[in-house]
Amino acid sequence: MGSYKKEFAAAGNAPGDKAGSEIPENSSAPADASRYASALPPGVPVKDDAESFDNPVRPLSFGEYIGQEKLKKNLLIFINASKKRALNLGHHDLDHLLFFGPPGLGKTTLASIIAKELGVNIRITSGPSIEKAGDIAALLSAVSNGDIIFIDEIHRLPKPAAEMLYPAMEDFKLDIIIGEGATAKSIRISLPRFTLIGATTRAGLIPSPLRDRFGFTARLEYYGAGELADIVIRSAKLYGIGIEEPAALEIARRSRGTPRIANRLLRRLRDYMVYLKKERITVEVAEFGIENLGIDVLGLDSNDKLFLKTIIDKFGGGPVGIETIAQAMNDEKDTLEDVVEPYLVSCGFILRSKKGRIATELAYKHFGLAKEDSMF
Ligand code: ADP
Repeated sequence: MGSYKKEFAAAGNAPGDKAGSEIPENSSAPADASRYASALPPGVPVKDDAESFDNPVRPLSFGEYIGQEKLKKNLLIFINASKKRALNLGHHDLDHLLFFGPPGLGKTTLASIIAKELGVNIRITSGPSIEKAGDIAALLSAVSNGDIIFIDEIHRLPKPAAEMLYPAMEDFKLDIIIGEGATAKSIRISLPRFTLIGATTRAGLIPSPLRDRFGFTARLEYYGAGELADIVIRSAKLYGIGIEEPAALEIARRSRGTPRIANRLLRRLRDYMVYLKKERITVEVAEFGIENLGIDVLGLDSNDKLFLKTIIDKFGGGPVGIETIAQAMNDEKDTLEDVVEPYLVSCGFILRSKKGRIATELAYKHFGLAKEDSMF
């Protein structure tokens, strides 16, 4: 246990240490990407380049992670309690956590921050990259006590893989079948005390035995314009881009409440800044870029607008099934449900009924149209 504590202390994370027990002041210290790179097992697919773990703007601590205050507060309580218990146990035993919410709201980032706060390793994978139960066995057998396994898009885990997780999450045991047919036998092996953090855009698609095994489930909320503006200003500093505050607010308003979109828009506006031969991103640069990118006042992009227009123009405002909309748009149903629809629902533009999606009067108004005989 002594050496365990020493290790943690070296990382500034000794269990029970004051460090990390409170949300530190916002820091704009440059991100140390190498700390994340080492958290990634070889061959693990990452998101697109700018969103990878080498991404300099990805927050590395709760202090840098802007917004989601209630959730951060809860997580810090759980983390600190785990640190206290670790003094006796010799390792962390944080309960399994499930984060849900649309893409780009900071689920992966949170998981990494938790691992860093605890001073444990994190292994990152995703539901679609796990093909069979054996992949889960391989993943689990490579962890140590207290380690975190992060499974993104956990709702897309194949059924046998999800079923293998049940005893692993609950009893830290793995049931492995050896041999085939009549001679096959099942053996049970013990696993280290790991913590699973699952992330999903669609909590409803997670089988309930899996959902029930998470000790804490949190929904990540869309960010307010003020929080997103703070994120943009922080990112601009880390990218080395000058930006005026009103321009940051303009980006914030057009980013669908989503940090990933805000950061992406910031990077695009950096290009328009160069094109317009400006030294920094001014409101003029922001307006010029936003206009050219076809993003409207509420941050709706061409895909959002096409989704609404398809319901309004082709299906009389609905109700119309999501498959039919996807076909008409020549797009993937899953993408529409995960990425496009949640924000339109949060804006009050779409209603989901049993018979299908309905465009509300607000949606009509947004396009300057009138909804005749509207019931909504
Ligand atoms: P998700 O896993 O929910 O799809 P990520 O954790 O990958 O989202 O976050 C996407 C990007 O948005 C990250 O690279 C990070 O830079 C930024 N980001 C997300 N949440 C925050 C936040 N609360 N504060 C600052 N930046 C954030």
